[in-house]
Amino acid sequence: MAKIAFVGLGKMGLPMAQNLVKAGHQVTGFDLSAAAGRAWRDAGGTLAPSLAEAVAGAEFVISMVNTGKHVKSLYCDAGGVIAVAPKSAMLVDCSTIDVETARAVARSAADSGFTMVDAPVSGGVMGAAAATLTFMVGGPEAAFERVRPILAGMGRNIVHAGPSGNGQAAKICNNMMVGIHVVSTSEAMALGMKLGLDPMTFFKIASTSSGQSWALTTYCPIPGPVPTSPANNDYEPGFSTDLMLKDMRLSQEAATAVGASTPLGACTASIYQALVNNGYGPKDFSIVAKLLSGELGLAAKKEPG
Ligand code: NAD
Repeated sequence: MAKIAFVGLGKMGLPMAQNLVKAGHQVTGFDLSAAAGRAWRDAGGTLAPSLAEAVAGAEFVISMVNTGKHVKSLYCDAGGVIAVAPKSAMLVDCSTIDVETARAVARSAADSGFTMVDAPVSGGVMGAAAATLTFMVGGPEAAFERVRPILAGMGRNIVHAGPSGNGQAAKICNNMMVGIHVVSTSEAMALGMKLGLDPMTFFKIASTSSGQSWALTTYCPIPGPVPTSPANNDYEPGFSTDLMLKDMRLSQEAATAVGASTPLGACTASIYQALVNNGYGPKDFSIVAKLLSGELGLAAKKEPG
């Protein structure tokens, strides 16, 4: 049993913190949003009124907040985690953020005597609820071994991706692939249907052929073949187009920073950007299938002049 401060009790953080309680840990939650804090308390969680009170005596501080800006502020601001947590606490950020910020915050933590790892996740809200997340951990080997049993309470696959920032690198490369796969699957299905293929017949063929992918067999972007995919629930997320665009942008910023060529990533980011610009950000990102099959009404744009 460990004493854990969990910061960021949103869509992902709430079920993750609940699973840590189920795993027998003593968890104190904190969130800047009163509504998120209330949801945690209503579910039986212990809520601290301030960050300092949440982290007091903690062996692990785990965060699940929005972006790099939020992570930097949470850890590095005056009154932030680095200023108020006990030096013996291990710091674990599970948010999806840019590699550069993850490494900079870990460096600031190390300069103040802390060990910090980045540990972003794959598996979404469903994986968070079912404690089946994949964790990609960046940081020293010894830190990975120390945090592994804690992460095991929230996930099924816990992988050491290498030194600080490598967890984020793995996460954004993985999500760039998924973003591209869902677009390519959607394109192929739209073309197949226009050529007269029955969608279910094509699904059966492609799912046992070389076109097979997670995007097809688990997350099929058209309604029918995979009953549990968001396509069958009017594209309710799942994983929102807003979040997919965020991750595609992170991949493109990282590619620019290191001079990597990612032409399909760039094109795919632009497709999700079009969906967001037309008001589909809150819908599941697999709604791109409706865009590519011509079924989606995009917002009418005013002609210039
Ligand atoms: P969310 O907006 O539901 O929750 C984030 C929470 O962090 C909010 O309640 C916010 O108030 C809180 N927060 C922000 N800054 C804070 C601070 N300084 N102190 C305390 N609380 C603070 O977001 P989410 O969907 O739970 O996503 C969290 C992270 O997980 C993001 O980085 C996202 O990219 C990543 N992620 C999300 C999913 C998903 O399906 N939602 C899947 C994988 C990864």
